[in-house]
Formats: sequence, C-alpha cells, structure tokens
Amino acid sequence: MTALNKYIFLYLHPVKWIDIHTHKAYRKYSDVIFIRNAFLLPILPENINYLCSNGLHPWKINSPFDTDKFIELLTRKPLVAIGEIGLDRLKPDFEKQLFFFKKQLQIGQQFKLPIIVHCVKAYPETIALLKTYPAPVVFHQYEGNTSITNQLLALPNVYFSFGKQLFRKQIPASLNQIPLHRIFLETDTSPQHVKTCYMQLAQLLNINLHTLQEQLFKNFNAVFENRILQTEHVYLK
Ligand SMILES: [Zn+2]
Repeated sequence: MTALNKYIFLYLHPVKWIDIHTHKAYRKYSDVIFIRNAFLLPILPENINYLCSNGLHPWKINSPFDTDKFIELLTRKPLVAIGEIGLDRLKPDFEKQLFFFKKQLQIGQQFKLPIIVHCVKAYPETIALLKTYPAPVVFHQYEGNTSITNQLLALPNVYFSFGKQLFRKQIPASLNQIPLHRIFLETDTSPQHVKTCYMQLAQLLNINLHTLQEQLFKNFNAVFENRILQTEHVYLK
C-alpha cells in the first residue's frame, strides 16, 4: 500500500481511540492508535506496527546523546514526534535539562516535528522556548494553572493531554478552560486501555462518548497528518 493509500484508509476507517502518550505497546487491541514513548533508543526495530516518539527525557540527561544518531532516528518511519522532552524543576541539573531541551527543539524545528512535552514546575521557561516552535506541541500529563493555561491557549499549536489526573478527587481546573479541539488523552505508564480515560472525561464534561472520540480523532489528524503523509506506517495489522 502506498503512503497515500494508507492515509486515505486511516480516514475511511471507523474512528479509533487515540492514546497520545504511552510507554507500552498495545498488543491485543486494533481499535487504538497510540504513540509509544521509546526514550532514546539508538535503533528503532524494523517493522513495528505502531507509532513512536523519541527524545532525551529531562530525567535522563546524563545518558549519552549523539546528535547525528538522534537526527537519523527522526527520519525513521514509525517516528512521529520528538518526546517526551522538557523541563522538570523537581529533578537535578536544571541547566543541563535546558541545554538538551533547547538542542532537541532546534533539531525538531528543522524537521517540523510535533513534540511531546514533559513539564514540571517550569512553565515560564518552557513557554518562552516554545513560542516560536513551528509544529504542534502536546503537553503530556498537563498540570498548569489557569494563568499558564491562558498563555498556552494563546499559542496556535498547543495541545493538552490528560490521563491519571482525571481520576483524582480534585480534577484539573484547566479542564473547564480548554476547548475539546485542543485536548488529548493518554495512559502514560498505566497498563490500562485509553478508553477508560475517554469514559472518565466524557463523564466529567458531561458529553457524549462518541462525540469525544470523534473530536480527539480529528485532533490527532490535525497534529500528525503531515508526518503520516511522509511515512509508510501501517496503523492496522
Ligand atoms: Zn511518559
């Protein structure tokens, strides 16, 4: 199948669940499109039938980082985003985190690749760096307050992903601020299927589950269609 046929196939196929950030590979399900976080694997296996993100996580900045290898990784077909990358104030070496975050953003800028951001208590620095980023940005496990959310909503290409926070007693206040066309859902390190997050969010927002599913599918296509057109990736077995 050509890349274009696959793309058309994706559109024609019934709406799927989207798990925008997970550390697992779903094995049993063909009803979910997911982006598996591969951290900084030097080599991506051939013929994997799922999408990946790759990047140097702010918790892993003492791992070796080879710029040429990283760039080579970004050209591999299943890779659709750089991530998770970002800044974490609760972890050591903030300056070094900044260095690698900037470096990966510069590289991502050349490829116009979407990025998946890990941000903990470092929103001002992160926003300053992302203001001019030329591709979509997804904040995973988003925890920003009302003011941060307003600043991010003012940027054209920012999306917000929620997962385990939806199951807390106190749900994120930003949920009432963010329009559905800027939202994603994720399981991150949880072994659950992402549909549990969809059901929870539909209930919290008092909206129809199918409406939510359709909108998040549209969001996925809005962010990743350019990359999908460049890849030969197969979404389904
Ligand atoms: Zn993660």
